Amino acid sequence: MIPAAFEYDRASSVEEALGLLRTHGSDAKLIAGGQSLLPLMKLRLARPDRLIDIGRIEALKGIRVLDDGRRAVGSLTTYAELIASPEVPYGLFKDALPTIADVQVRNRGTIGGAIAHADPAADMPALLLALDAELVCRSAHRGERTIPATQFFQGPFTTALDPDELLIEIRLPGPSQHHASAYRMLEQPASGFAIAGVAVVIGQTGAAADDVFDDVRGAVTGVGDHPYRAGAVEAALVGTPIDGPSIASAVGAICEGVEVMSDIHADREYRAAMAAVMGQRALEGARARLT
Ligand SMILES: Cc1cc2nc3c(=O)[nH]c(=O)nc-3n(C[C@H](O)[C@H](O)[C@H](O)COP(=O)(O)OP(=O)(O)OC[C@H]3O[C@@H](n4cnc5c(N)ncnc54)[C@H](O)[C@@H]3O)c2cc1C
Repeated sequence: MIPAAFEYDRASSVEEALGLLRTHGSDAKLIAGGQSLLPLMKLRLARPDRLIDIGRIEALKGIRVLDDGRRAVGSLTTYAELIASPEVPYGLFKDALPTIADVQVRNRGTIGGAIAHADPAADMPALLLALDAELVCRSAHRGERTIPATQFFQGPFTTALDPDELLIEIRLPGPSQHHASAYRMLEQPASGFAIAGVAVVIGQTGAAADDVFDDVRGAVTGVGDHPYRAGAVEAALVGTPIDGPSIASAVGAICEGVEVMSDIHADREYRAAMAAVMGQRALEGARARLT
């Protein structure tokens, strides 16, 4: 399969990439690792007139620890770099990242590309939703803005990014010994994408009694037309010890308010049931990390 013809620019700086985006507007498409965009172009499901290659912009690579402990992950950081880095010691990353795709895709695919692409069954969006990540974006004419992950994913392959915006970095809360996280998913065996994937973060802040959790976040991928936070599960578990009975009772609401997808791999009923099972396993996994 051969893509349709396109013009090609390689940007060597963020400013150059933003200038090219402003000049060429929606005729142009950014390319980072190419692991989502190139397959689409080869199938001619995407036919951009111009590619702006950001893959060699050093300023978008790597992980910084900010003064307040948060992590700033450059949008070009690859899955492989996240796996190898001691600076992102989140349990849900350890669970999810080694299972995404294969080693070649993990060496090329970037965190920015994964979330800008916004596949409704991708893993990374759920991880960032559960972590309460913030996404720093920049455009030539409007400058920089920060979008909470909870407002970023808006529909299938649709995000809050404007066509002339570049995702610069992803900010994650600093690791805390009073928090733990986990990710569990049922994957579609041929593609590896989630039929139902659930990421959770649970924690205690200073104000919480010893045996209860007052910070509970859960995010679901593969189930709705875009990844979402499972608000009803979170509300049911805040103020509880997060044990067998409270988990079993809460996960029944994991699809509340969501139009559950149905396809040849899983009908609505099965997918919803698997979301509850994955939610239960993720919560048990996070809870076990705190004992
Ligand atoms: C064989 C295979 C198996 C896979 N399995 C899985 C899996 O199991 N789970 C899973 O979640 N994913 C899976 N994927 C998808 C993979 O994770 C993503 O394709 C990859 O991470 C996207 O990153 P990229 O850098 O390659 O993006 P690209 O393909 O370069 O770009 C993707 C999109 O993001 C935009 N973009 C890229 N960078 C930026 C930026 N900085 N700012 C704004 N827009 C940007 C591009 O314009 C494009 O629209 C698989 C892919 C393949 C090929």
